Amino acid sequence: MGTANPSSAGDGPFKIIFDRDICIGALPCVAAAAEYWIRSDDGKVDLKGATKTGENTYELVVDEIYNNKNINAAETCPVQAIKIIKMKTGEQIV
Ligand code: SF4
Repeated sequence: MGTANPSSAGDGPFKIIFDRDICIGALPCVAAAAEYWIRSDDGKVDLKGATKTGENTYELVVDEIYNNKNINAAETCPVQAIKIIKMKTGEQIV
């Protein structure tokens, strides 16, 4: 694992919210954070270890030390299927 970005130290935890319905399987999330995102047989992706919170929505809480990769995943998703919430403030950062 890499080191934490000092500017984000103490900002975590973060909640990743994944809307699998709108995922088109474009896969930049897997390129950005392969520890979290894995290609699925149906052509979409799965968020490893996530909790199912709706018909096709999933959530996972992560520490800030992993956050930058998942920010990249969320920012590069072409359909905004990935959102990231700073849990301390409720602010949506992506
Ligand atoms: S980048 Fe977005 S659309 Fe592409 S596979 Fe990941 S979640 Fe799905």
